[in-house]
Amino acid sequence: MSNLQISTITQNYNQTKTASPPAFRGVKTSDLKFDTVELSSNKDNNNLGTKILLGIFGVGAAVLAYVKFHKATSIKPQEGLSTELKEIQKLYKDIFSRDINAEETKDFAKRYREIIDFKTDSNDREYCEKLLEEICKDRKTNKPEIFRWIKTKAETDPRCVNGGMATAPDGSYIDIYSFNYRNMENPTKGYFESLFHETHHVKQDEIIYRTDKEFFLQHLLDKFIDNGKGEMYKDMLQSNGGNKEKTIQEIKEIISQQVDNFWGRFLPYEKNSKEYEYGLKLIDGKKNYKFFGDCANNEEYRNQIIEKGAYTDGEKAERLFDLLRQISL
Ligand SMILES: [Zn+2]
Repeated sequence: MSNLQISTITQNYNQTKTASPPAFRGVKTSDLKFDTVELSSNKDNNNLGTKILLGIFGVGAAVLAYVKFHKATSIKPQEGLSTELKEIQKLYKDIFSRDINAEETKDFAKRYREIIDFKTDSNDREYCEKLLEEICKDRKTNKPEIFRWIKTKAETDPRCVNGGMATAPDGSYIDIYSFNYRNMENPTKGYFESLFHETHHVKQDEIIYRTDKEFFLQHLLDKFIDNGKGEMYKDMLQSNGGNKEKTIQEIKEIISQQVDNFWGRFLPYEKNSKEYEYGLKLIDGKKNYKFFGDCANNEEYRNQIIEKGAYTDGEKAERLFDLLRQISL
């Protein structure tokens, strides 16, 4: 073991975060060309970290497909629900892939309506934190940290208008664009859409971890090593007297421990289960994930499995938002 302990690694990831995304300074290896495919045609290494981060932001899933792998359950009684609440109940099922009864629907509407009502002109970040926490509870997944709060259009990647999500060993991170074309007229609604979209990608991380942990780890390892260019990797290699095998083993162990700290409470899916089969599709989608120019307006980009579900969730969230504003509780 080198003198670089786990805390040092974590610290370095954190340091990396201040300037560029966590753990994603690496270029893809030839056999793992997900997320960063776009880089092969873009050699601007100064922006590599950002580009890779944005590439990874795609970790999303098709809700419709996701819904399909969940067991069909009988529709719960809707007595006592207004037309709006019935639609909200349906949206809940579409987004979170499970049924809720009438009481749960009212509770759900109340919780989110309270968060919307909490929003003022000056508490965007607090609003997003509350919303993020609530959505992740309903998704039954881990809450990501907000990595960057992006305030001006100049700081955004012109291809991405909603926000972003990145996967690091110690968890998922999201970027929130407070400058967002959807936010322009109604930021409260814009954030609503963005956070449903990005947390969909977080859920995909969970699914991939539960489907194939080895793939998940290898993905992170490749980025850390960065084809031998990763700074931390180079330091560790040096302190190990140039022993690559030993160094990689050490990094693997550290990454594995961090990943388990964050995701370990989620058990692996059984092979051949519907969840597992869906996870394999997501992994395939990750391997082939691509940017296509102006992402938000590019059908091919939006329709790849990683993005399709996220965009669908975002659209459903916008409808949900409008309904929540209408109802009287
Ligand atoms: Zn996305």
